[in-house]
Amino acid sequence: MTETSSLNVINPATEESIEEIGTSSREDLDEAAKRARRAFEEWRGVSGLERAELLHELASSLRGHAVEFAEIMTKEGGKPFIENHDEVGWVAACFDYYAEIARDSVGYLPAPIESQQLALVIKEPIGLVACIVPWNYPLLLAAWKVAPALAAGNAVILKPSEETPLATRRVVELVEGLPNGLLQAVYGAGDVGEMLLKHPGVDMVAFTGSQETGRKVGKVAAERLIRANLELGGKDPFIICDDVDVEIAAQGAVWAACLNAGQVCTSAERFYVMHNIADEFVEASKSYVDDLNVGDPMDEATDIGPLINEGGREKVERHVGEALEKGARLITGGERWGERGFFYKPTILTGVEPSMTVMRDETFGPVVPVVEVGSLDEAIEQANSVPYGLGANVYTRDFEKMLKCMREIRAGTVWINDPLTDNDAAPFGGQKGSGIGRELGREGLEAFQESKHVHIDPKVEKKEWWYPYGPGEEPGQRTV
Ligand code: NAD
Repeated sequence: MTETSSLNVINPATEESIEEIGTSSREDLDEAAKRARRAFEEWRGVSGLERAELLHELASSLRGHAVEFAEIMTKEGGKPFIENHDEVGWVAACFDYYAEIARDSVGYLPAPIESQQLALVIKEPIGLVACIVPWNYPLLLAAWKVAPALAAGNAVILKPSEETPLATRRVVELVEGLPNGLLQAVYGAGDVGEMLLKHPGVDMVAFTGSQETGRKVGKVAAERLIRANLELGGKDPFIICDDVDVEIAAQGAVWAACLNAGQVCTSAERFYVMHNIADEFVEASKSYVDDLNVGDPMDEATDIGPLINEGGREKVERHVGEALEKGARLITGGERWGERGFFYKPTILTGVEPSMTVMRDETFGPVVPVVEVGSLDEAIEQANSVPYGLGANVYTRDFEKMLKCMREIRAGTVWINDPLTDNDAAPFGGQKGSGIGRELGREGLEAFQESKHVHIDPKVEKKEWWYPYGPGEEPGQRTV
């Protein structure tokens, strides 16, 4: 565990330092955990209606500061301003959604064992939840945890990524109305994340990040026997059938690969195109890509900003370089852009093979590797061939093909003709190595709730199945 005392937050578009912020110490965390516990005891007693009102107020305060947040996020994370502005809107919508459904999700009544009895299932908060998030959607991925966790009655300590702590710090400043200490943040890199999840005051961890870190987080959670929700990386496939308008499918494909410079956990990273439309698809994709503006993310004409850091860019270069060495063809891109900043041009490759790293490991960059396939069965087989299963995209007009893809593709989300559209009201998460558990939807609230079964018999009387057992009693005749 490397100890650092400050974080230098860098603007990835200029490589200049924005601000140096202090990292949290063990003493800071102890203090935060104490305050959070007090806040939790207060918050769990607040009525569902009042909780909802306070969470709606927070949502509207975030909306009111959307431009300010979008500026901070654009500087520290490099996404185009418009995408960050959209993100703030989605964050607010997520708080509004959970404010309401939590009021409707406090438990249920199962049928009791005997008719005069009452069986209750009560949904209770878990306690103090550690939320550890990455840099690519710093507020949205926090909201997917914080909103349901608070709505369910928990307290939260949030650890933003070391790359993007500034927007989170501003959110925590804006939290008013909630009990003091209910939502706090600690700052630092992986060492602070580890310290947080090992803290005895923490009752659950909700993590989004890479598969590699997810394994470490899962291991600590298992040792501590605390609940862990893990949202991990992806290598999403994108299948294009030959019954669609190829121009539109190509534009959808490029958008799904290049949104946020390809740094979305559900970025499309493998493209399976029916053989008879492959040339047309590549041509249409190239002409769309060549019209995209790479550049300053604050400029409203910019479509694609920088990658987050030099390490991220080098990874993309490694994947593309290895593919080219092994015989892939470069259609466009394949190089850095500009003098400063971690930019990489959107890139299209053809002739890629399933064994190449660019088709197996998460690239996290604006790359469209295209494979020609002869049938939908072949496309689905290849789509399912990697250990990830976060999302998948399909373009087709044929309802039978839609149903086949829906059934046979192993992924947490299958998007048909509308890539990467999330829905607060539907669960999000990974199958296979892309995660354990779900965020969003009802599942995303239940992730932060304990279930307590309460069994009430209003009559105080001896049950016939207690001792003494009668001679000659048949085992199958007993009630329990
Ligand atoms: P990362 O795994 O490096 O870091 C994620 C967070 O974990 C950061 O806050 C980091 O400081 C912290 N961390 C690092 N080591 C830790 C440790 N040992 N214990 C506790 N915390 C630790 O990921 P990243 O580079 O920030 O983000 C990119 C990754 O996130 C990609 O793999 C991407 O696919 C994934 N991601 C997944 C989703 C999803 O919903 N499934 C969404 C967005 C991003």
